[in-house]
Amino acid sequence: MNLNSPKLASIENCTGCLSCYNICPTSAIYIVKNKEGFIQPKINSTKCISCFKCSSSCPEMNDKEQNKIPIKSYAGCGKNKIIENSASGGIFATLAKNIISNGGTVYGVTLKIINNIPEVYHTRISNIDNIKDIQGSKYVQSFIGKIYIEVKKDLDNGKTVLFSGTPCQIAGLKSFLNKEYKNLYTVDLICHGVPSIEMFSKYLIYLSKKYGESLSSFIFRSKCNGWGPLIATVTTESGIKKIINYRNSVYLSLFLKGYIYRDSCYNCKYANLVRIGDITIGDYWGVEKEEPTILKNKLSKEEGISCILINSRKGIKLLQDFGKDIIIAESKLIKIATNNSQLIKPVNNYIHKKKRIIGLNKVLGIRLFNILYKFHLPL
Ligand SMILES: Cc1cc2nc3c(=O)[nH]c(=O)nc-3n(C[C@H](O)[C@H](O)[C@H](O)COP(=O)(O)OP(=O)(O)OC[C@H]3O[C@@H](n4cnc5c(N)ncnc54)[C@H](O)[C@@H]3O)c2cc1C
Repeated sequence: MNLNSPKLASIENCTGCLSCYNICPTSAIYIVKNKEGFIQPKINSTKCISCFKCSSSCPEMNDKEQNKIPIKSYAGCGKNKIIENSASGGIFATLAKNIISNGGTVYGVTLKIINNIPEVYHTRISNIDNIKDIQGSKYVQSFIGKIYIEVKKDLDNGKTVLFSGTPCQIAGLKSFLNKEYKNLYTVDLICHGVPSIEMFSKYLIYLSKKYGESLSSFIFRSKCNGWGPLIATVTTESGIKKIINYRNSVYLSLFLKGYIYRDSCYNCKYANLVRIGDITIGDYWGVEKEEPTILKNKLSKEEGISCILINSRKGIKLLQDFGKDIIIAESKLIKIATNNSQLIKPVNNYIHKKKRIIGLNKVLGIRLFNILYKFHLPL
């Protein structure tokens, strides 16, 4: 073994944020898929020049980022019609619209289904008409690709940038940039974990067989019955639309229960009240119980209600300058966290504490899913 070669985070800890992949000056980092279908960076030793940029930019191996305890917390909802396509209160979409109207660029996650194969990845938009592409939650790990390099170009060109993602992706971007940019705003999501694109792909194959044709779109969080009930909608190529209740889908239930996540999600260091983004957004679950007065007087549950945590001075500025058409009502952090345990701790993986065993939940979950898939049983 060459003692001079850098090391990447272990399989258990690597979040797949791809800071290493973006920073490597010789493209010596390549991506493989592990046996569960999650991407994993590797080093090609013939191309590696041992500059150690990959290991020093890894957020899991270095604690460079200063995380922050929220300064303020709110219940909120966008006023614009745009929020209909959003997962909850459309906070992200509203901010995105205002950033772009002021000449900025926005980065978020899109889902494309081409020839029945789904791709979920981060993309850059600079046109309001394209916001719909990155609205809505995609409950799959998104592929970062080399997007951090594009973000840096925009920042260096003086553009205002809004970047959204899971907390580990925000950490990846910040670690890659390795300096503060006044013109960068980051939005992290409350996140309970991500399944792999491979599992989602198998799920879509199952659905297309069930409906007898290829699929053209899949919406994880449909508001066809309002915000609250967890419902997905799938559309086939001939335009037939089907509604799927999470409770009736093996894939979506396994996702909700936390059986099929990436290893690192079970000891996620961002699943707590110390946040990495300038603001954090999520669903305000339990708002009717925690804040009945706000619901009565200010916000309507029909359109979706988000929780918004303001974690930095820039977060305050983001909401002030670009969130004018967001209705907000202050709500205590403790109330928001009551029904959102990912603000306290990562998803439980029962026997995870026994070192090296990644948890009964997860092992069984993924096995169960693969067995059902193999024998063409309902997913
Ligand atoms: C994997 C995952 C797990 C989540 N878990 C929780 C949870 O436990 N509790 C909770 O309250 N909220 C959770 N959320 C967030 C929630 O689903 C909404 O995304 C959030 O409330 C924002 O809603 P919005 O209406 O403001 O955003 P929208 O306007 O709908 O915009 C959606 C935003 O989410 C981003 N996004 C979508 N999919 C992904 C992805 N795969 N990876 C990274 N970013 C993505 C988009 O880029 C965009 O910024 C999760 C989201 C994801 C993607």
